[in-house]
Amino acid sequence: MPTPFDHAMNQLERATKLAFFSPEFLERLRYPNRQIRVSIPVTMDDGSLRVFEGYRVQFNNARGPYKGGIRYHQDTDIEEVKALAFWMSLKCAVANIPMGGGKGGVSVNPKTLSAGELERLSRGWMRALADVVGAHKDVPAPDVNTTPQIMAWMADEYAKVTGETNGAVITGKPLDAGGSEGRGTATAQGGFYVFEALRSELGLPEQCRVVIQGFGNAGEHAAEIWSKAGHKIVATCDSKAAVRNPDGLDIAALYVHKKSTGSVAGFAGGETFEGSELCFEPCDLLIPAALENQIRQDNVGRVQAKAILELANGPVTPDADDALFARGVPVIPDILANSGGVTVSTFEWEQNLNGEHWSEAQVFEKLKTMMEREAVGILNRSRELKTDLRRAAFVIALERIKDAMK
Ligand code: NAD
Repeated sequence: MPTPFDHAMNQLERATKLAFFSPEFLERLRYPNRQIRVSIPVTMDDGSLRVFEGYRVQFNNARGPYKGGIRYHQDTDIEEVKALAFWMSLKCAVANIPMGGGKGGVSVNPKTLSAGELERLSRGWMRALADVVGAHKDVPAPDVNTTPQIMAWMADEYAKVTGETNGAVITGKPLDAGGSEGRGTATAQGGFYVFEALRSELGLPEQCRVVIQGFGNAGEHAAEIWSKAGHKIVATCDSKAAVRNPDGLDIAALYVHKKSTGSVAGFAGGETFEGSELCFEPCDLLIPAALENQIRQDNVGRVQAKAILELANGPVTPDADDALFARGVPVIPDILANSGGVTVSTFEWEQNLNGEHWSEAQVFEKLKTMMEREAVGILNRSRELKTDLRRAAFVIALERIKDAMK
């Protein structure tokens, strides 16, 4: 089975057939600058010792310090982190922010840890990697299963180890620990600005029926933002189950249900069904906001959406991309659609470095301008090159990285 990194390299190869890039440049981009694996010993609450494996991959820093989240997941390994770090290099270039690409992770199911164990693990990750991260070297952030609280523990540990107290070493912190206004909803908000900029060009109706896979940070905020804007969220899911309502789910009530029961399953305002069937529900817009490799060659034929917006990283595989393009189903690629998160992370970094605090209105105004500009640029480039939005986004990102590497 191809790894996410195989998919990333496949995407690279396909995109570079459309514009000239030297073989030397492409060869360089197939290898991360650095891949680091560390052992993180953690004393568990019962006094026993467990050793977890942690990662940081620093892919490319031609455009600025490495930037990318830290993922806690039982299936996370160095290959996955490497693919995510590669995509971050392109995403930062697509968003046109002064950052390179990196990613981190720990192989762990954090739901099996107590709060104390989670804190010791997070501090351990930072202690093990404090010498390779830094405000001008490598700036981590949250990703799947990592939270503002975890970022605050890590920032505190970094200050203890290095004596440097500037919070700019890590972003996605809580507001009172130097976080930015708007960071919590930035990924979904950025995706929404992209959607609004492209909606009519992609032939989508003013009021879309939307299906969202995942009801975590990205998915839940997307549900809230799209439904507030008048679209109908007709189905969503988490790792346990899916819920549907063809008249539109009440997202505020679903949020309360999920908070109190731990899952969307059994929500009274809809019908519960098998989560693995979610992506095949009829809709105008499908928003994958969970994990990678969800829409593949073996199941793409069952997708009924008229367009896909990737808030998750890597949810559509390259062969599924081709099948969707052939059917005229546009896929708004992750490196554009979810780049609002890293863009506001970069705003946080800038605010910390300059000792500033911007209002939420300032943050979203800047974000909107940037996302709309890049979305329209990518759409125009895809038309010029007669290709899909992903290849066009790759070409633009690669040109920017190439210019920086020169
Ligand atoms: P999260 O942990 O907050 O939420 C993940 C959601 O997906 C949860 O609701 C979980 O139950 C669900 N899920 C997990 N496995 C599933 C499965 N097999 N089927 C269906 N649902 C499943 O994570 P998040 O921060 O929302 O990230 C989701 C995706 O968005 C990831 O691919 C991440 O890399 C990407 N992303 C997130 C951000 C951000 O700012 N949070 C930024 C850019 C990209």
